[in-house]
Amino acid sequence: MNKLVKYLNDHNIITVISDEALSTKIPEALILRANIKDVNEVDHFIMLYQEFTNTQWIRIGQLDNPSRVVFHKYWACQHSKVNKATDKKTVRNTLCDAKIDILIKKNNRNTRRNDTFLQRDPPLCAKISLYQNHNHSVNTSGSIKFLRITHEVEEVFYEYFNNGMGASEAVRLHESKILLEDNCWEILANGSKNPIKETVAYLHKKWRQNNFGCVNNPLDKLIEKNLSYAEREQPWAVLVVTPLMKRVQLLSSSKELIFCDSTSSCDTMETTLTTVLSVSNAGAVPIGMLMHEGQSCEGYKNAFGLLKKHFPLCFGGNKMPIAFMTDDSAAERSALKQVWPSSRILLCTFHVLQKEWGWLHEVKNLVSKEKRLPLMRLFQKVNMK
Ligand SMILES: [Zn+2]
Repeated sequence: MNKLVKYLNDHNIITVISDEALSTKIPEALILRANIKDVNEVDHFIMLYQEFTNTQWIRIGQLDNPSRVVFHKYWACQHSKVNKATDKKTVRNTLCDAKIDILIKKNNRNTRRNDTFLQRDPPLCAKISLYQNHNHSVNTSGSIKFLRITHEVEEVFYEYFNNGMGASEAVRLHESKILLEDNCWEILANGSKNPIKETVAYLHKKWRQNNFGCVNNPLDKLIEKNLSYAEREQPWAVLVVTPLMKRVQLLSSSKELIFCDSTSSCDTMETTLTTVLSVSNAGAVPIGMLMHEGQSCEGYKNAFGLLKKHFPLCFGGNKMPIAFMTDDSAAERSALKQVWPSSRILLCTFHVLQKEWGWLHEVKNLVSKEKRLPLMRLFQKVNMK
């Protein structure tokens, strides 16, 4: 117990062990007197006591409107039946009777007369009764595993979830982070710093409900979020340029013809990948890769805008190439036209021929079956010239 007194002392709480317990005939309680004056200092004491003893306490009651004392509150051990769903004995609910009782006395002429602790400097106004009759182990790996998660660690887990992690992935990352610390084994075993799986699952459920609503009825949440979806900013885009691509940007061939090749719906978010290529002796090599949202003109414009902003002279030292060759995408072509208005936009031969073949087959164009192939051959000849 002297260690506790010293620990509190190190944190600016002057404490002495009082022998009042014997005189009041409650030998099971340890009674401390301390220089604690208000609610904040009491909270600080509870926090330090929890830390020192590796226990946790739930406030169970207080004296309302105290007139003769400043403050009187009680706490029960976290393994007591307080706040538990059942009265049955479980790992969490051992029906523990341990409790803490804190009383802050008024310090005036009358009270000082009967209480020598109030006559000290500083006056020891608080009387702390610690009933430490836990019916479970304390400060063993089995018991500290069940310590409640702290608010700070809870926030850390919400951040993991916000970053797209599921419950088990968050647990793994959190543990691997703890392993880098000096006293990692101690922290790993401590439920307040490394929560048990049930706690993380519960946090994840809470987070999911807050962000996506109830599984059975997600509509309410969608209606609530509708406004924020509507006021979304411009579509997102990511530009990747590797050292090789930077070198390709310097080629004189990059001044002439640039190919844009898009692959859409690359993932569940429908990301589009657009490769911007130049001609080199080794074939087509990219000068930049763009990942962007969807296939709208805005999406393409935003993505090309990134390349223009960060590599303004990426076309062999020029601000724009002579021409772009693209797939048959009206949105992409229109975006290129807006970002680099002086460049010509060519349609890739493959797509031109594909379009022609489609046109010849359309019923409304009234091209008879036997004429389709000869016409196509003629078109190919024109196109190759
Ligand atoms: Zn207990």
